[in-house]
Amino acid sequence: MPEVKLTEEYGFCFGVKRALEIARRSLREGKKFDSLGPIIHNEYVVDELKKEGVEVIDSIEESKKNLVLIRTHGVPPEIYERAKSLGKELIDCTCPFVSNAQKWAKKFYEEGYVVIVVGKKDHPEVVGIVGHTEGKAIVVSSSQELDVNLIRNKKVGVVAQTTSRLDMIQDVMDRLVEEASEVRFANTRCNTTQKRQEQVERLSKEVDVMVIVGGKNSSNTRRLYEIASKNCKKAYLVSSPDEISGDWFYNVNSIGVSGGASTPPEMVEEVYEKIKNLLGGGGYGGGKVDARQ
Ligand code: SF4
Repeated sequence: MPEVKLTEEYGFCFGVKRALEIARRSLREGKKFDSLGPIIHNEYVVDELKKEGVEVIDSIEESKKNLVLIRTHGVPPEIYERAKSLGKELIDCTCPFVSNAQKWAKKFYEEGYVVIVVGKKDHPEVVGIVGHTEGKAIVVSSSQELDVNLIRNKKVGVVAQTTSRLDMIQDVMDRLVEEASEVRFANTRCNTTQKRQEQVERLSKEVDVMVIVGGKNSSNTRRLYEIASKNCKKAYLVSSPDEISGDWFYNVNSIGVSGGASTPPEMVEEVYEKIKNLLGGGGYGGGKVDARQ
């Protein structure tokens, strides 16, 4: 029977666990609040909190409650000011790793550096980081996006979106070193992201099929999927065990499973168990799994 392997770490990261603990504790204390954007990119968790009265809002003005939760991605400073002027209090669940990236971007900006953020322009975490430079930071996801005129012979300070891949950062740094007069880099990637990416990198090189579990709009989950796809011809991204097809495991020797930082660990384990059951049970969706190996 094909072997099914889990990465050493999977499921909720430190920042997400912390945010959910704060949210659940606040609910237990009888606090009523809304969440500015989904607390994490996972529909199951968002639905669970919705049942407890936590609505997802797009702007702080939308909430009729006096308390609003800031999620792990963080927000630009203007949100704190708007909340204050509206008389609302915040439950701040910004992940400490994200706060660190915001702090470095602000520091570089105040010291007169051109601030470069390596990441995805529209990602809420990046929007928050850029806000800490009065909107002046330049966001790039590759060296091709760098406008040489803005960096040539300039002092440049670089921070990374916490979930950035190392090769993306390296690509941007190589170009900056060629053009800028000074380059400073604050390593604001989070350890969790780095470790999980390395584990997925290793496992996806070993196995025939790699299954990543998590929300399809979750940035860190998608990064794991990108890494898995690069190393493994058959890589799949699923948000629940229901999306697994027995066809994926036909005639394979080994299968790897991992999950993003916003995925409940039980969900990853359910996917793992389902694959094992499919293989052990001799098939799924018409008995197409080859369990003879
Ligand atoms: S992935 Fe890292 S930066 Fe993002 S919430 Fe989790 S611990 Fe924080």
